[in-house]
Amino acid sequence: MNLRIPGPTPCPPEVLAAMSRPMVDHRGPEMAALILRTAPRLKSAFQTKNDVLIVTTSGTGGLESAVVNTLSPGDHVLSVSIGNFGERLAQIATAFGAVVTKLPFENGRAADPERVADALRADPALKAVLITHNETSTGVTNPLEALAAAVRPSGALVIVDAVSSLSSIPVKVDAWGLDVVVSGSQKGWMLPPGLAFVALSERAWEASKTATMPRFYFDLAKTRDAQAKGQTPWTPALSIYFALDVALDMLEAEGWEQVYARHQVCADLTRAGVKRLGLELLADQRFASNTVTAVKAPQGMDVSLLRKTLREQHGVVVGGGQAELTGKIFRIGHLGLVQEDDIKATLDALEAALPVAGFRPAVATV
Ligand SMILES: *Cc1c(COP(=O)(O)O)cnc(C)c1O
Repeated sequence: MNLRIPGPTPCPPEVLAAMSRPMVDHRGPEMAALILRTAPRLKSAFQTKNDVLIVTTSGTGGLESAVVNTLSPGDHVLSVSIGNFGERLAQIATAFGAVVTKLPFENGRAADPERVADALRADPALKAVLITHNETSTGVTNPLEALAAAVRPSGALVIVDAVSSLSSIPVKVDAWGLDVVVSGSQKGWMLPPGLAFVALSERAWEASKTATMPRFYFDLAKTRDAQAKGQTPWTPALSIYFALDVALDMLEAEGWEQVYARHQVCADLTRAGVKRLGLELLADQRFASNTVTAVKAPQGMDVSLLRKTLREQHGVVVGGGQAELTGKIFRIGHLGLVQEDDIKATLDALEAALPVAGFRPAVATV
């Protein structure tokens, strides 16, 4: 199967093989050595000098940890949302008692730094701003550097969902002044789901000392102290740690700049191919994502029939739309283990499947 959804993504055979290794004592020397050699390697992907913590959980768990370790019930928080995952982050903050002000942007649009600055001026009590770097539901990558710069004068913490960008699209955590940044193993990391990676700035660690939102499993100070000794506070997903070690070998051998460049090439190829077929992208072109492309379903197209045809006749799996975008878009994932040939095969399949779903493609893709 050509799995072209925006996570989980395909894993290289070397990574899958690592997952079949026998279990070890999670408190023993093999695991300590693995943690102590693996965790520091995440710093170059995050472009940070601070620790990157590894937590056994999905991306959402990583986001929950970001919120509960830095905030207290009653804190004013600004949610800058450009889609479904932005909404989810706001829901987490609300669930733990934050007073959330929403600054939503239309599906397909990026957030406007000016409006973020205005919202911060309107409420000087805002303690944190929640930002999605790459909105997987709409295929939009926010101008994160500019957004973080717009927040800085206010002193609010910048909490970033980089689940579907970090490792595929550059994120300069320290240079851009980001305070908490979360990624997830099943997106660009060529790994199965199960690990979240979380980086905190010194300011975020300072905030964690007085933050009173309830936390136990996700108490990141416990994770930090354990990780420094090659330990984890709770039993880690050992198999995915084995896989992480191998995936990092592969990504580092390719080189992070080359990894980013490959994502750019595959994204450009996807966007150009889709447009050549006569379809439109949901995203504002200037902010179209290099990890996922959301394609508008034209009038009369049956998205579920298109996805079924692609899967059953062509072995290509694409994503549907989420929430109010269900039936209105489909999404092609191009992150992690992806090469130009995977995209070419996807576009060929799409060209063949579109007429079945009620759309006549414009011209041949090749
Ligand atoms: C996939 C994703 C998540 C959620 O991750 P889970 O691993 O499903 O919990 C959060 N944010 C973004 C932007 C994502 O793409």
